[in-house]
Amino acid sequence: MNKSLRWKFVFIMFLLIVLLMTVVCVFLIRGVQRFYTNEFFDQMTSTFNDKILASALREAAAAQEDSVGSLLGVLEALKGQLGIDTGTRNFYILEGATGRFLAGSVEDGSGLEITPNLLKAIVTGGNVLTGNAYASYMDVAVPLKGADGAVRYIIYIRDNKQTVQNLTRELVTLIIQAVVVGLVISAALSYILSKTLLAPIIGMTKAAEAIADGDFSRELAVESDDEIGILAATFNNMARQLKVTLEEIKKSEALRREFVANVSHELRTPLTSIRSYAETLTDYQDIPRDTEIDFLHVILNESDRMTKIVQDLLELSRFDAGNSKLVAEEFSLGQSVRDTHDAIALEAKKHGHTVTLESTDDLPTIVGDRARIEQVLINILTNAIKYTPDGGAISITGGQTDNKAWVRIKDNGIGIPAEDLPRVFDRFYRVDKARSRESGGTGLGLSIAREIITRHGGDILIESTPGEGTTVTVVLPVSGPAGKRQPGGEQWA
Ligand code: ADP
Repeated sequence: MNKSLRWKFVFIMFLLIVLLMTVVCVFLIRGVQRFYTNEFFDQMTSTFNDKILASALREAAAAQEDSVGSLLGVLEALKGQLGIDTGTRNFYILEGATGRFLAGSVEDGSGLEITPNLLKAIVTGGNVLTGNAYASYMDVAVPLKGADGAVRYIIYIRDNKQTVQNLTRELVTLIIQAVVVGLVISAALSYILSKTLLAPIIGMTKAAEAIADGDFSRELAVESDDEIGILAATFNNMARQLKVTLEEIKKSEALRREFVANVSHELRTPLTSIRSYAETLTDYQDIPRDTEIDFLHVILNESDRMTKIVQDLLELSRFDAGNSKLVAEEFSLGQSVRDTHDAIALEAKKHGHTVTLESTDDLPTIVGDRARIEQVLINILTNAIKYTPDGGAISITGGQTDNKAWVRIKDNGIGIPAEDLPRVFDRFYRVDKARSRESGGTGLGLSIAREIITRHGGDILIESTPGEGTTVTVVLPVSGPAGKRQPGGEQWA
């Protein structure tokens, strides 16, 4: 590709030089010719219109004896003024009536022919001092009258343009030489220029090939701020974005695989236990009734667990697909906190926990999906109950900062190790799988909670110290998510 472009450059430069020089050549040659011809006719006009000279010629022509000799004498004397040069320009003294050669700067009258100008002078008897600038010769004819008033002689001057032709030839040779030198220089220059221009394109081609092979390490040097520089910068930008996108795709692909593996594992565990208990019940007829009932309870519990996992997954997939609509309404967040507190009070009591409710009166009325926000609060409270050894202390506080409402649930339970903290919102992530399973956890609760709070334009934060306890804070915008400020049952994805 680059090679052909390079040669295109050279070819264009060649063509330009040749065209330019041809135009220059044509103009120059025509200019020189025009100048030379104008010069000739001007010279002739000024000479033959000179009064003194005209009378000298008239007198010589009218002389009774040897008038041709007298004319020859006058013209010989004028040679310099007329630019007579026997090789190129000659004068002829011709017979007035016939145009016959009588004498001239060349003795034999060679080079003489009857031209339109000469013919015109013979016929009209008047001076002919103009002619065609582009003819192959130039001539003027001046008739001279004798004493009887009839045209006796014609002074005819003819230039065969040899000088201008020689000059033109010289010019053409010079121009051809200039073209050759110009071509060599332009070929070299255009080659170098094309190399400079094409270097970044070649670099880009190589970088694009490298990217196609999965190597994103190549950064193009941006050496100028012209179009090529902008192209290189844009290319680098594109490569960076492509790299990020690919990494994200890889990451999400890895997450997807991990998620599928987790789902399969989570569903297989209860299924295995259901199957083994059911098999035992079918294989052995004489199982005591109590054991039978215990086994059936296990089967029921496991199937409940499966149902919970499937429900949670369904909910998450609805969020992912944007199909889970939240309904905006104006409600008292303080009331919701008190209701959730009441809802978990019995469970907390079972474990001997004390649950304190503080400053929830400070909580404002907010716009949001009430049921979903209560679902989040219940999830966090249930976690506090589950992951705090019996007899623990759980506190619920709330308040408003600027246009944000916050609810904080603090326990003095087992806590979460620092390395696990960033992952607790990941789907199926559980610090202590056995403990979570035992207490009916699916590892999906916090993932769902974060989805709900994020969709409200809020935030969910977790701080924890192993052995000391965990604090989860939910922050919500008072006026609901951006663009959904008006309550009234509006739905948003
Ligand atoms: P699970 O259904 O297992 O409770 P969650 O998504 O609600 O799932 O929580 C994820 C994990 O975070 C839990 O398995 C647990 O290890 C940890 N966790 C959540 N809340 C607390 C807490 N209050 N104290 C200690 N660990 C917690």
